Amino acid sequence: MNLMLPGDAHPTWCVCLVSNDYLGFSQHPKVKAAVIKGTEMFGTGSGASPAIGGHFVYHHQLEKKIAEFYKRTDAILYTTGYTANSATLQCLLHKEDIAIIDMAVHASVYEGCLTTNRKKFMHNDLAALELALKNAQHSYRTKMVIIDGVYSQDGDLAPLDQIAELTHRYGAYLVVDDAHGIGVVGDNGRGVIEMHDAFDQVDIITGTFSKALGNIGGYVIASPEIINYLKFQSKQHLFSTTATPAILGILKAIELVDEEPEWRVKLWKNINYLKSGLINLGFNVGTTASAVIPVKVGDIGKTLEAGRLLLKAGIYTNPIMFPAVAVKDARIRMNVMATHTTAHLDKVLEAFSDVDGQLHISNKYR
Ligand code: PMP
Repeated sequence: MNLMLPGDAHPTWCVCLVSNDYLGFSQHPKVKAAVIKGTEMFGTGSGASPAIGGHFVYHHQLEKKIAEFYKRTDAILYTTGYTANSATLQCLLHKEDIAIIDMAVHASVYEGCLTTNRKKFMHNDLAALELALKNAQHSYRTKMVIIDGVYSQDGDLAPLDQIAELTHRYGAYLVVDDAHGIGVVGDNGRGVIEMHDAFDQVDIITGTFSKALGNIGGYVIASPEIINYLKFQSKQHLFSTTATPAILGILKAIELVDEEPEWRVKLWKNINYLKSGLINLGFNVGTTASAVIPVKVGDIGKTLEAGRLLLKAGIYTNPIMFPAVAVKDARIRMNVMATHTTAHLDKVLEAFSDVDGQLHISNKYR
């Protein structure tokens, strides 16, 4: 990618490890052609919110397509993945209800739960979840367990089968945001839900079109009753202008997940190459099992310095620190894409090795 460094007179070429465009579909000729076709057929904007003339055939097609992708029938679209979570939870949960949340879920979930009761449990801790469910059992109207499929900072996965069993045993609903799983995880790119064959065990699936599907927008998939309720009660949907015809590109991207699985194969080749290279150099990559790869550093100052040195070497990564993660848990986070070449990844590994020589951040120095 071409990047202008602050203060530099000339643009510098970098290996980009900060994009969630995991399959490279934002650059795919067939996706671009579908976006152009949508624009030529329908124009650049939809012109209205859904209840007053803004719900077009292409919105209906995308709702059906994303629902069927997850072997379901009904879905609702939102302007972003963020709103899909925040608006849905705000609409469904009130003061008589409770949200039981894995502490590592995305900020949009926290926002959606501001007007209901909340109980956080330690990340992926089944005993803590069970205790929360037990305590909530007789005190609330609706109980909702909310988790991610793939967690955005550690790249690790939810033990979905066990969480679904526990959740339903205690009469709660299960919500799964698989924003980083769709297109990436599972034999057919259906995310963590596919890995556990849990298509009918998740009450509400949420996600985004902005990552592996290369566009923008969010979706919620649920029973016809819940979707119908959201369509008429969720204010951020009802009173906000619908997506542009460029979403025809998303329809194509969803098809490409099945039509061109070679992108997912290439992505996993890259993930495994970079991950094993970093481990061989002695870095701590935690428990990642997705396209999100953290290099755990711990110290915030060293993390920032590592990010700066990597950028200087032409490697664009994200230094992540508090409040996104715990104070002691600062790290460099990378997102791998199918479009990275082995030469790109070798350059990344070489730069990490050099940075380690200067900052002593790998396990070799602990
Ligand atoms: N959920 C998770 C887990 C995310 O990582 C993100 C994006 N950072 C979102 C939801 C929000 O998606 P969007 O960027 O499309 O609004």
